[in-house]
Amino acid sequence: MKSDEEQVKKAQSSYTTSRRTLLKNAGLTAVGLTVAPGLLLSRIAEADTHKPGNVPKSAVQYQSTPKGNQQCSNCRFFIPGPKPSAMGHCTIVTGKISPHGWCNAWAKKSS
Ligand code: SF4
Repeated sequence: MKSDEEQVKKAQSSYTTSRRTLLKNAGLTAVGLTVAPGLLLSRIAEADTHKPGNVPKSAVQYQSTPKGNQQCSNCRFFIPGPKPSAMGHCTIVTGKISPHGWCNAWAKKSS
């Protein structure tokens, strides 16, 4: 099992890479990159509050399908819906989240 610090570093790295890609594609400068790690760390710190997050899906390459055996329903940041198959939320990513979705901030839920 990864430690919280490793999970934060993984998510931070993924988010920074995604932001870099987004900014590059948008033709923007790297100025925005300096705030991304702090922003992500604050989102992860908030993750334990079980409130839906506000990181855009595009920033973490969210997809509505699993990646191998990794999916939102077995991610530590997933907030389940009223039924196992229902849409839920995520403490990092904004909007409704499929239990079968995935993003590059995925971190294994402890059992
Ligand atoms: S894998 Fe799903 S639950 Fe986990 S951080 Fe990404 S969107 Fe949120």
